[in-house]
Amino acid sequence: MSAADTDPRPETPAGAGPEAGSEALRVLHRVFGYDSFRGSQQEIIDHVVAGGDALVLMPTGGGKSLCYQIPALVRKGVGVVVSPLIALMQDQVDALRALGVRAGFLNSTQDLDERRLVEAEFLAGELDLLYLAPERLRVESTVRLLERGTISLFAIDEAHCVAQWGHDFRPDYLALSALHERWPDVPRIALTATATEATHAEIASRLRLQDARHFVASFDRPNIQYRIAPKNDPKRQLLHLLRAEHAGDAGIVYCLSRASVEKTAEFLVKNGVEALPYHAGLDPRTRAANQARFLREEGMVMVATIAFGMGIDKPDVRFVAHLDLPKSVEGYYQETGRAGRDGLPSTAWLAYGLQDVVQQRKMIDTSEGDDAHRRRLGAHVDAMLALCETVECRRVQLLAYFGEKSGPCGNCDTCLTPAESWDGTVPAQKLLSTVVRLKRERNQKFGAGQITDILLGKKTAKVIQFDHDALSVFGIGTELREAEWRSVARQLLAQGLIAVEGDYGTLVLTEDSAEVLGGRRSVMLRREPEKAAVAKPARAEKKGRAVPVDLPDEAVPVFESLRAWRAATAKEQGVPAYVVFHDATLREIAVRAPATLAELGTVSGVGENKLAKYGEQILETLGTE
Ligand code: ADP
Ligand code: ZN
Repeated sequence: MSAADTDPRPETPAGAGPEAGSEALRVLHRVFGYDSFRGSQQEIIDHVVAGGDALVLMPTGGGKSLCYQIPALVRKGVGVVVSPLIALMQDQVDALRALGVRAGFLNSTQDLDERRLVEAEFLAGELDLLYLAPERLRVESTVRLLERGTISLFAIDEAHCVAQWGHDFRPDYLALSALHERWPDVPRIALTATATEATHAEIASRLRLQDARHFVASFDRPNIQYRIAPKNDPKRQLLHLLRAEHAGDAGIVYCLSRASVEKTAEFLVKNGVEALPYHAGLDPRTRAANQARFLREEGMVMVATIAFGMGIDKPDVRFVAHLDLPKSVEGYYQETGRAGRDGLPSTAWLAYGLQDVVQQRKMIDTSEGDDAHRRRLGAHVDAMLALCETVECRRVQLLAYFGEKSGPCGNCDTCLTPAESWDGTVPAQKLLSTVVRLKRERNQKFGAGQITDILLGKKTAKVIQFDHDALSVFGIGTELREAEWRSVARQLLAQGLIAVEGDYGTLVLTEDSAEVLGGRRSVMLRREPEKAAVAKPARAEKKGRAVPVDLPDEAVPVFESLRAWRAATAKEQGVPAYVVFHDATLREIAVRAPATLAELGTVSGVGENKLAKYGEQILETLGTE
């Protein structure tokens, strides 16, 4: 699948002489301080440097930015990057400037003076990269400005924003199809982490990139551990996860509604976790301030709706937790992909329960759009449910969704603690016949809670009130525990063998229910393992701030003093800590303890500019340890 898998060329070794590497590779070493290209980066970069158009599909954290940044540095002129992420442009530009790349941006947040300055730099050929909000291109003066300069390439970032059915759709992106009419000789590279066949095709046609070379990278993110747990007390479950495995780590918690964002953030703060809310209902100033704190401070937890996250390239997000069922596998994968861009171990954790299914189905039933649209939404939820209820490797299933074949990954909950499948035909029949009896004998409908109580023979107030203990099905299900009945109901819903209705989530039969009731169809179910997988032992015992995993004990104090130096430096310059150096880079410095500048320069992530700027300080910090 991956272009890299079929690429017969060996990777060029680090430090190879100039004749061994291309100009692109030299830029990779010198500017970015990296050893070698990842996956298909080299191929993409070579293609664009040579003037070709490209459509790049790569997962979040796969390394898309270099695919246009390096060609922009190699080719003559300024690389124009179209991006919808206005709030992040300053950070992106700061990060590039820290590397010694001459970058600037034009968007609506600037005043006239700032804009003039960037325009002058552009015209004087003093920029390598210019970031533009898409709406800028609709302004004739911007187009005239671009026509007066030399453009090396157009990069269209977050290219899925052109897809009309996606929730990130930006009408301004539609106008980007005209770029190549105005600049026929300038190569265009469109990039996205959204990768289903349908989105891919839509991007290609709307941006007129059918003739471009398409690069589809592997979507695997092996350092992310995927886990899906049955939901019972989600906030407590989350807190447990954070305390046991992610104390002091930065992470994102996704909730469906604004109200649950607020409540969850409050709950975490009350329990000693530094958490901030983010949703579209907050005023823009608070939103921007919270986003800035998340990016700048270490160990912040952002509790957010899906309004948060696109383009957040904070490399050290250690976990992404979902407290509600995402609407599609595509969205889920994109959201979870925000964890672990630095390649260090990270967790994607989702809690999911019956109520999620009820809620999603209700949202679909009341959504705008025609039947075809609703069917599409339904199919998305079904794929998500299938992922939740699979007894197979989560990653195999996720990658299959993106058309990629793979084997069991060893780094997801079902691989670590295999779930069994069991024949649930009899319990399914018992549950379905309870629904039938309520309807036939009482003309009533009830939700899963009441039905479970009836099956378990519980004389609750509500059971007595409705005289349900007189039903013949009362108490016929004592072989399963309550949680197991919930799981049965959830899985019947997931398999379409039962449906929910109305505001109260009452259960009703579907067309397929009859086959189960009539014994013509058996029902295989997932049995939750006794204990949820815990993959990272020992982290739980650490006190205070967590350090990235896999750090030898003796390197921990060094790493901590490097981190303190980084925090002070970042604060002084008003940039996020990762703009100075990534955790992974600090870690390598701590482990290798370089004694000279030359040695420090061979650490991944230490390029020419940063070596000159910070080298002495780093060696000093190491020396005092
Ligand atoms: P994407 O835009 O695809 O989500 P990024 O371009 O932000 O991903 O890259 C993810 C991370 O990987 C960044 O921290 C980047 O610096 C790092 N990275 C990218 N390419 C390489 C490489 N060839 N070697 C080392 N690190 C890389
Ligand atoms: Zn697996």
